[in-house]
Parts: sequence; structure tokens; C-alpha cells
Amino acid sequence: MKSELYQKLFFELKKIPSLSKKQISKIIEYFLECSESNILDLNSLILNFKRSTKKCSICNYLNNQDICYICSDNTRDKKLMVVEQSADIDKFEELKIYKGKYFVFDTFYDLKENNDHFFKLIDELKKLCKSYNEIILAFNLSIIGRLTMEMIKKILYKDFKNLEIYQLSSGLPLNGSVEYADPTTLKESLDNKINLKRNSNEK
Ligand SMILES: [Zn+2]
Repeated sequence: MKSELYQKLFFELKKIPSLSKKQISKIIEYFLECSESNILDLNSLILNFKRSTKKCSICNYLNNQDICYICSDNTRDKKLMVVEQSADIDKFEELKIYKGKYFVFDTFYDLKENNDHFFKLIDELKKLCKSYNEIILAFNLSIIGRLTMEMIKKILYKDFKNLEIYQLSSGLPLNGSVEYADPTTLKESLDNKINLKRNSNEK
């Protein structure tokens, strides 16, 4: 039987999405092996990191500036890629396979929810769309990812007549997101991006 404190710690770490029980146990074991000063250092590092990290006021990328280095760079291509999370931007930047700008859209459209956050992000995205003729939606290809892209496409095509919207090609593994795609697959899915055609009611 694990101690009450172990269970409390386990419960807190379990709040981190996608960590398995085994991974949580490993982290706790690691903490036990650390010296007390290590733990204190880690504690203040996490706190300082949290205090110095903010969302870019234009694209929502997590960084330490009000406006991130990508949004401040005027030499970038006139393309906007809509990604699920800041980590996806890190991946594209690391691989150097894309030179446009980004927007972090960190929610899905959910048929069962009120979607307040979705529509807040749509408003932010619409303000940006005025400056772009090409948008690439880089959501994962799960049902909810596809539904989200369909909703964004519908809304943006209604308001922006000259806009072309693309999605990454189905070269991405089924249900696979940018985060888990290997570099070659990701480059191919960007090279072979699919033009999401307008339906007659979106013209
Ligand atoms: Zn930015």
C-alpha cells in the first residue's frame, strides 16, 4: 500500500495529459533519487519558467515576449499555418520546412459543448486573415480534428472571398498529429497539402 503522500503526488502528476501510470511512477522514483537541493532548484526553475512565459498577443505561441520572434519577422512568407499547440510550431521551425507565420488554435469544435473558446479563437483568426491569401490548417486527422477544420473553413470562406485554405495531406498517420509525425512525413504532407475547395454555399 503506497503512502498517502505518494498517492497525492501521483494524483497531481496524473493531471498532466498523456502520461501513463508507469511514466508517473518513474518521475516519482526520480524525485526520490534527487537531493533536496535538486528538488528546491527544480521548484524555483518551474516557477521562474512559468512567470516568464506568456502567449504571443498575435499568434498565441508560448514564449517570453509579448510579440514572438516569428510575428515580428517581416521577411516571412505571406502564409498562415493554424496549429494545435506551440510545440507544433517548434517542430516546423526546427525542421525548417516552412517559412510563413503561425496561429495556435488550441481547441477543437465539439458538437456537445458550447464552443466559447472556439469562437473566441475564430474572432482572433479572422482579424489575422485580412493579411493573408493562404491558410494551412494543420490539425490532426481524427474525426474531431476534421470537424474543426471543416468549421473553420466554412466560417472563413464566408467572410474572405480571396482566401485559399489548405490542410496537410493525408500522408499524416491516421489520428496522427504534427507532434508525432516523422520529419519526412511532415515535409511530404506540407508539400502535398490539399486545397479545401469552396462549397457552393461558401462562395
Ligand atoms: Zn507570435
